[in-house]
Amino acid sequence: MTDHTIHILPEHLANQIAAGEVVQRPESVVKELVENAVDAGASTITVVVKGAGKQLVHVIDDGGGMSKDDLALATVRHATSKIRNESDLHAIRTMGFRGEALASIAAVADVEMRTRRVADDTGWVLHARPGQTPDVAPWAGDVGTQVIVRNLFANVPARRKFLKSDLTEFRHISETMQKLALARPDRRVVFYDGDVLVFDARPADLRDRIAEILAVDARRQLVPVDATEGGVTVRGYVGLPGIARQSRSGQFLFLNGRPIVSRSVAHAVLTAYEHLLDGGQHPVFVLHLDVDPQRVDVNVHPQKHEVKFDDERSVYLLVQQATASALQQSNVIPAFAADLGLAQRPLQSLPMTPSQGGGGLVVNRLTGEIMPSRAGASPRAATQRGYTAAAREGYDQLMSGLMREETPAMPVLQADGRWLVTTSADGLVVVDQQAAHERILFERVMARDAATQHVGQALLFSVQLRMSAAHAALLREYVLEFEALGFRVDAHADGSVDVHAVPADVRPGSEETVLADMLRELEVAGRFPAERRREGLVAIYAARQAVRRGERLQPDEQSQVVRDLFACAVPHMSPRGVPTYVVIPFDEIGSRFR
Ligand code: ADP
Ligand code: MG
Repeated sequence: MTDHTIHILPEHLANQIAAGEVVQRPESVVKELVENAVDAGASTITVVVKGAGKQLVHVIDDGGGMSKDDLALATVRHATSKIRNESDLHAIRTMGFRGEALASIAAVADVEMRTRRVADDTGWVLHARPGQTPDVAPWAGDVGTQVIVRNLFANVPARRKFLKSDLTEFRHISETMQKLALARPDRRVVFYDGDVLVFDARPADLRDRIAEILAVDARRQLVPVDATEGGVTVRGYVGLPGIARQSRSGQFLFLNGRPIVSRSVAHAVLTAYEHLLDGGQHPVFVLHLDVDPQRVDVNVHPQKHEVKFDDERSVYLLVQQATASALQQSNVIPAFAADLGLAQRPLQSLPMTPSQGGGGLVVNRLTGEIMPSRAGASPRAATQRGYTAAAREGYDQLMSGLMREETPAMPVLQADGRWLVTTSADGLVVVDQQAAHERILFERVMARDAATQHVGQALLFSVQLRMSAAHAALLREYVLEFEALGFRVDAHADGSVDVHAVPADVRPGSEETVLADMLRELEVAGRFPAERRREGLVAIYAARQAVRRGERLQPDEQSQVVRDLFACAVPHMSPRGVPTYVVIPFDEIGSRFR
């Protein structure tokens, strides 16, 4: 009689335990099967799920297929065709390599695999059920592989109980399908929920693929990013501020084709937007990082996608700079101006009125940032020198087209309480009154000479306000910037605030709400770097004070807004990066009458 209390687990039990790691939910099955299809070189991958994958996951590929002998091995644990030895482990180029997925899935579900190689006369089908020896039989079908997974977790009721609602489980699957489609734009990816086609994405370039999967306008809303440094390449697209989301649902990052999560990279992208985004907004991006697999550890936990880079900081800087320069260089002004040379050069020396500080200023057309020019100092300065006479002319033409209509007075119509419609030489000009007014106020306030800021109107009697200690502290922190705007305040530690003066355009009686609104926005916006604090606060002020959508304007106010907008240094964008106007070309209108 042996004296063992330790024994080796039977294989099916070991697989079932291991499956806990690999197969957590129906989405895991989808992920593993589509990765196998990618590794098999499929050019079309079709996925059908039923009951959020709990009933059925069916993945069809037209890849290389398997021989009868390989098929018999496929569901055995640690059976893989993708690595052979330790040196392969350090240079992995496939999605899978552990040889665990099919074994794990077969331990917790019924699996049917049909496969045929191009060289074989017949294909083969394998049936596997948890705890039973799989059987293989001939199968007549197309070249490629189909894997059908039914009754997931039927033999592990505890796990089945832990699954979330169909809606949630389906959402996980759908996210994985989006990742697949964005990771491999060169493959056709078809996705069905039961009989309902979710998408059928044909091979495309990345830009069109993103447009299809994320439902954005490829030409107008996506900005290309492309940079390489120190063996790391970042390539892809970032979205304009207008399509930023309230969540990170529009953020996709791939490392050598594998979807990953990297908080550091996401942060690098975000900071490149500077104050183009409101607090709480998340930019849309689809970025592919490519690095030498020898330099990155991808041997991460099967379900963990968080990747750490050997040189975290240089990846961060590369992504941040590539995104920032893409945003600066791209045509982010409205699409009608796309043909102007100007559009390709967001940084321009523009003539300024003396009150704006003379000619030595550069305007970032994207951010509206106004800064002193430092000739030859930076790539920005290089861009200014690349500025051509042709571009200048194109711009002048557009502007004079707008201005020509002005004699005697440019007729302006307010439509739907939010658009100001007028004409230029080329078409109908539709101005967003709120965005336009934000731009006007922003430039007006920024143009005031910082030294002679006392544009506030002193109140006859100081107003005493009470605010939260947090707001009072924030007010104290930004007190210089508030003073530059024309506020004069004493904020005390107990949350009481004495207001002695406010900017001229703050209506009496609204001091409290204006301050409270601005502080709330400041809170949401988070910290501005020191050199942008003033701009940041002015942008918030402009947004607070601008006319709203739906606010009726008198005829003279309507034309005033249009006139002031086109007198701005950066008329195209609000300080928050929203387009201020569009032109509907007469040609386009004409063509509609045909
Ligand atoms: P891994 O992908 O880590 O190798 P899997 O358990 O996912 O492990 O798959 C085991 C093996 O089965 C793979 O290495 C591959 O040889 C084969 N295989 C799986 N799916 C397919 C497929 N769709 N087409 C061709 N071969 C496949
Ligand atoms: Mg695999």
